[in-house]
Amino acid sequence: MFLKRLEVIGFKSFADRVGIDFVPGVTAVVGPNGSGKSNVTDAIRWVLGEQSAKSLRGAKMEDVIFAGSDSRKALNFAEVTLILDNTDGKAPLDYSEISVTRRVFRSGESAYLLNKQPCRLKDITDLFMDSGLGKEAFSIISQGRVDEILNSKADERRSIFEEAAGVLKYKQRKRKAEFK
Ligand code: ATP
Ligand code: MG
Repeated sequence: MFLKRLEVIGFKSFADRVGIDFVPGVTAVVGPNGSGKSNVTDAIRWVLGEQSAKSLRGAKMEDVIFAGSDSRKALNFAEVTLILDNTDGKAPLDYSEISVTRRVFRSGESAYLLNKQPCRLKDITDLFMDSGLGKEAFSIISQGRVDEILNSKADERRSIFEEAAGVLKYKQRKRKAEFK
């Protein structure tokens, strides 16, 4: 499974619809300070269900919506779509291409879509859990997170390895069953 394309509209500094195609191999995003490089990874984490505004470097979730600039009015919604290639069938869905969309309005209304069909956040987290791509996954390591991993306690660090090894899903299911 790999990231094929990211489509962003109204998310942070991306007022216009922007599409980024990821090619096989390494993709590097370069640009001056403040040009929106980190906003690209914020968009990926957000569409995968990130709930913490702080970890998206904002104060509240509304802060992900384009807030306007000298020449442009603020927008009323943000939308991000991530398209994944699933020809290897790693994600348990019978599609060779999977699209995940998240949308939020200033009113607070929000939606998640899987292959353009409305779904719950849980459907998305379940789908990517243990695939290495979840919002908590080690595949996205933001500025500051390296230090955090190095300085974390042994059991916190262990959960990173558990996600990588693919056992986190079973631990969470076990915990849920125990609390029923
Ligand atoms: P650096 O090289 O310093 O890490 P960067 O390229 O990673 O920079 P980002 O942090 O991705 O830059 O982008 C920051 C920019 O995004 C700032 O100019 C900020 O004003 C803009 N920005 C963030 N949120 C919004 C928003 N809701 N509306 C409009 N612009 C926003
Ligand atoms: Mg940055």
